[in-house]
Amino acid sequence: MKIVTVQIARPPTGTQEWAASNVNIQNGCEHDCRYCYAKTMAIRFKRATAASWGQPRFRQHDLDRSFTKRAGRIMFPTAHDITARNLDECLLVMTRMLAAGNDLLIVSKPWLACVTRLCAELDPYRSQIVFRFSIGSTDEAALSYWEPDAPSFAERLACLKTAHLRDFQTSVSGEPMLDGNPDAMIAAVRTYVTDSIWLGKINRLRQILPLNCPRDSEAVRRGEALVALQSDKDIRALHARYRRDPLIKWKDSIKAVIGLGRPASAGLDL
Ligand code: SF4
Repeated sequence: MKIVTVQIARPPTGTQEWAASNVNIQNGCEHDCRYCYAKTMAIRFKRATAASWGQPRFRQHDLDRSFTKRAGRIMFPTAHDITARNLDECLLVMTRMLAAGNDLLIVSKPWLACVTRLCAELDPYRSQIVFRFSIGSTDEAALSYWEPDAPSFAERLACLKTAHLRDFQTSVSGEPMLDGNPDAMIAAVRTYVTDSIWLGKINRLRQILPLNCPRDSEAVRRGEALVALQSDKDIRALHARYRRDPLIKWKDSIKAVIGLGRPASAGLDL
């Protein structure tokens, strides 16, 4: 008897929920978030150490590449951020993707100087762009602990207002939620959001922290406290509060708890 193996495609998770493909131009990220999965993968595969991740290096072949029109939206970046140090290079590569007719999801913990320039220089491509700013909390202390070299909440909110004022499509990612009060973040940003506010749990923290923050018992303690705020009971209550809110979307970590359907293919932003 002939045995036929049928490959069942796994539903998209992580960045695949948002975009069909992604582009990055450097190894490492100066924001150096304690929960960063890209950092964990880089350490595991010996592309970085816990100490070197915060001093990124450009990948010349990614700076030199050209682009054609791809099927589906491209997310930029996914494994670093857009900062004053790499803004020229990010603009160069983003402009190449846009000029080839691609739609772009620009995801960032944004700096106001960067967003002001992005809005000015990418204005000719405005209809091809959605900005998605990562804002996991309104609590400056929580942000500065988990994302030590990233902008404050006040600066990220100013970026969102700027992009909204310039008529770009705007979105917020509350993944990972960094406190027990995502309602405060939603209330603070929703006036300036045209597209969506995504909510998601903090993922894989017990595997990530030993590599990203070796021998850091404070990070472990704070991580356990954060995970405890995202119990299934808490997530169900959060979903019940916002299930009819047209702006709110649920990342894979929340879909799994609630039992929501998964998108059939990557990049559907559902
Ligand atoms: S901004 Fe993103 S890529 Fe950079 S360290 Fe933080 S989570 Fe990682």
